[in-house]
Amino acid sequence: MLKRTSFIALWLITLIPIIFAQFGHDPQRFQSLLKGFFKLSANYALTPKWRSNYNQHSIVYRLGDKTEYSVNKKILNDVFEADMVLTPYQMEDVIDTFKARVHGRPKRVKRNAAADSVKLRWPNRTIPFEFKDTKDAKWITLLRDGMAKWTRETCLRFVPRTTQKDYVTFFRGGGCYSSVGRTGGKQYISIGYGCEGGGIVAHELGHAIGFWHEQSRPDRDEYINLNNDNIIKGTYGNFEKRTDLERTDIPYDFGSVMHYGPQAFTNNWNYVTIETKDHRFQHTIGQRADISFIDVKHANHLYCNDICKMRLHCLNGGYENPLDCSRCKCPPGLGGIRCERIATSTPGCGGDLIATATWSVLNSARVGKCYWRLLAPYGQRVRFEITDADYKCDSSCAENYLEIKHQRDMQQTGFRQCCNAVPDTLLSKPTFPKPPLANWEGQGGLNGLLGQETGIDNTFENYVVKELPNVLRSTGGRADISSLFTLVDSLLRAGSGKKKK
Ligand SMILES: [Zn+2]
Repeated sequence: MLKRTSFIALWLITLIPIIFAQFGHDPQRFQSLLKGFFKLSANYALTPKWRSNYNQHSIVYRLGDKTEYSVNKKILNDVFEADMVLTPYQMEDVIDTFKARVHGRPKRVKRNAAADSVKLRWPNRTIPFEFKDTKDAKWITLLRDGMAKWTRETCLRFVPRTTQKDYVTFFRGGGCYSSVGRTGGKQYISIGYGCEGGGIVAHELGHAIGFWHEQSRPDRDEYINLNNDNIIKGTYGNFEKRTDLERTDIPYDFGSVMHYGPQAFTNNWNYVTIETKDHRFQHTIGQRADISFIDVKHANHLYCNDICKMRLHCLNGGYENPLDCSRCKCPPGLGGIRCERIATSTPGCGGDLIATATWSVLNSARVGKCYWRLLAPYGQRVRFEITDADYKCDSSCAENYLEIKHQRDMQQTGFRQCCNAVPDTLLSKPTFPKPPLANWEGQGGLNGLLGQETGIDNTFENYVVKELPNVLRSTGGRADISSLFTLVDSLLRAGSGKKKK
């Protein structure tokens, strides 16, 4: 009997520290690990030799950063990647990943990323919260707006805490920061002075939901270059990649609210530290206006995947909407039940256009949301050029811009124009999405449901053009502001495109 008791006791002794190490908050331990890590990583270059997109001319980038980074300048030594407070376990994992990279060896501790991230998720899709300061009505409204951004689009719910063991406490700290995932017990989200953007609140909530920064994804080197020379000395550690993120088929997104701004940790505000490999996306990164389609999809994937039982076979990156399983949730610019058609625009603009063999001009100065879709016959491509785009220039185009999606993947945020027209002619990607399965065509099935809708079967244009020229209002209604697109239709190959069956 005695033996048995001691055996049980031994179990407890070994178990407790593991659980504590994994979920426990230990700010001091985190701080000392963080300082050690910054020191350790200070002298290691990040990515292979940086190659600028801008070798013709240097970038002049005298634009303000609107992300939490610029608010947090005073606390950059105390948080990871500008705004995260990690558990010692998470920080150790970052260090381990870093060491493995620089020594070219596998990670010391092989962790099961998927299992870890499940543990860090909130049960029942519910995040209990409390406000530390309940007197500041404006601040509370700001927080509620940030929460609403997530609840409008996902199955996640924020509920006032009653007796729940794990919960978030919002407080007005000296900056904007958060833990990553559910770390156990009480965890803090600081929304201090300067963090007033609804997108910043949504960003910090994104961390609490379980997201790291977009540019630390394992595949980021395919999308961005880091300019070592312009990164503040000693802060390189904030640009390490994560290698153990749970794998999903959700693509990298320049427009993610979780992406750093272009000037994060810059030592010279005239230069960017993050260059997008395709320079046309330079003003897409770092937006803090709203969560992106992919941010939402990612959250729904983690928390809401089991809600819709019936598959709708959504097209173009859409997926069953957990808030309404009878419809697909479509990438911006697309609509219909299965994301097969163009989204509805503000009256008076937008629509489907057919590319022809001569250049056509599209000119618009309408205030609102305008979506155009440029179609080419099956197997052909659209040639496209922006000759003028006149909006309020910003580091990250946030509210007023022209967005162009020319890639096959319609989920990703397209490149946003708000400063000046990016030169170059664009060619849409040559291969279009495969036609859906045959059982969706012909009689019966969903066809009845879809009624008159066309375009369901294939031949997608690849452009959705989105314009939000509210800038007209802010510039005193200058009516001459316009965006011009010139488009040419595709080179017709012999024959008139494949006939679909
Ligand atoms: Zn962050």
